[in-house]
Amino acid sequence: MDTSNLLTKSDFLLFLEAPRHLWAKKQDLIGKAPSAFDIHNMEQGYQVEALAREYLAEHVLKANESMSIQDTFTDGRFTVKTDALIYKPDTNSYDLYEVKSGTSLKKENLYDITYQFLIIKEKVNIDRVFILHLNGEYIRDEILHIQELFEAEDVTGKVLDILDEVYKLREIALNTAFDSSLEDTAACLNPKGCPCPEICFPELPAYSVFDIPKLSAKKKTELLNQGIIDIHDVPKSFDLNIKQRQIVDVAQSNRILINREAIQKEINKFKFPLYFLDYETYLSAIPLFPGNKPQQQMVFQYSLYKLDSPNGEPCHSDHLAITKKDPSISLIKQLRDDISEMGTVFVWNKSFEMTRNKEMAIIHPEYAGFLEEMNDSTYDLGDIINLGYYIHPEFKGSWSLKNVLPVMVPELSYEEMPINKGDQAMTVWWTIVNGNLSDEESEKLKIALLDYCKLDTWAMVEIWRVFTSLNEMSSKTAMYSN
Ligand code: SF4
Repeated sequence: MDTSNLLTKSDFLLFLEAPRHLWAKKQDLIGKAPSAFDIHNMEQGYQVEALAREYLAEHVLKANESMSIQDTFTDGRFTVKTDALIYKPDTNSYDLYEVKSGTSLKKENLYDITYQFLIIKEKVNIDRVFILHLNGEYIRDEILHIQELFEAEDVTGKVLDILDEVYKLREIALNTAFDSSLEDTAACLNPKGCPCPEICFPELPAYSVFDIPKLSAKKKTELLNQGIIDIHDVPKSFDLNIKQRQIVDVAQSNRILINREAIQKEINKFKFPLYFLDYETYLSAIPLFPGNKPQQQMVFQYSLYKLDSPNGEPCHSDHLAITKKDPSISLIKQLRDDISEMGTVFVWNKSFEMTRNKEMAIIHPEYAGFLEEMNDSTYDLGDIINLGYYIHPEFKGSWSLKNVLPVMVPELSYEEMPINKGDQAMTVWWTIVNGNLSDEESEKLKIALLDYCKLDTWAMVEIWRVFTSLNEMSSKTAMYSN
């Protein structure tokens, strides 16, 4: 069916995110091909949908009822394709189901299903409306129990509450999609991740107000309304929190901010041997192994540098589990051997590694003591930047390792690496395990994975060296020129 002059459900959801983005999509101005990671996620979505249909057929459908899937309904210029409709002959009515791969009900899910309800109710009699999402509390055992995998939330009342609002919004969305111009539509306030920011911000400076961390939409709009988009133009009087103000000051002065005393206090907490650790994980919507939950992050790889003394040579070890079984089993075993004597364990963004350790402790209780001890010894090296003890104008408001490394250690960079992002590592691992690759192809990808994870940990070693050498520098001031 040609939907080029109709408003689809995806169009409506896109409109809710950013009206201009919908307009640009309808003008064919957005040409971003899906990445391997996007395709992989879509495939996971299809798997969830297939299992959801099984769940509905086996555990919801009553003897005299029937189910239809993927029905298309159109009302005027609004169109939608359903996930599932269950016909109940006793009341001559239908229950509408929308399947989601998330583990809880989200606000946007309600707008999504209300958009559908408005169209479908014009054609058939709808009784109840459900969001069928994955059950975040379900823990798999040897067998996947579909009955426990899903949770159906009856959202009929919530849908009726926002019916009038969605009715009005879809009219505006339709107008935005087909009858508006660039000037009539509002851009999003996150152009940094945009594939084509030139549509909305043709003169986006290299360091803009969008780089100020956690700046609210209200404040971004306030600045844009004053014609301010370059971070260098943010007025001294503009209300920002301490961290945001520090970042703006550093950008405007083009000077590095170093709080030597605070950094030294942190360094004094570290205990040898030092470890520099990084995990790579695979996110699976459907739990694959005993002990796993829906949307489980499974650790399949680590890289580790160990440093016994301040002037010692870092010693490297790593592990990459290529297996169709739970990869974390062999991984923890080796990690415990590699961290035989506990010291400070450096990671970058500790909530990620520490949460994985907690999850692995539940799945493998025999290693719980080791994993808890490791969490007690974990230090987030990124905190020194995140807490504002070391701010460089070239970080551009970010403390991501990918942004910090080329500034602090210019000879190291992710740019030339065949794998240079965590989501890419995830899909490559899945391809090695499940794709039909030749030994040669598989070996090449394994090396790329090992190199990527190794760089994450070597980067931390080098950044640690920069922090520990700061007090040897001659400057006595807290701030010095770049
Ligand atoms: S900046 Fe990019 S993502 Fe945002 S609305 Fe414009 S085109 Fe869409």
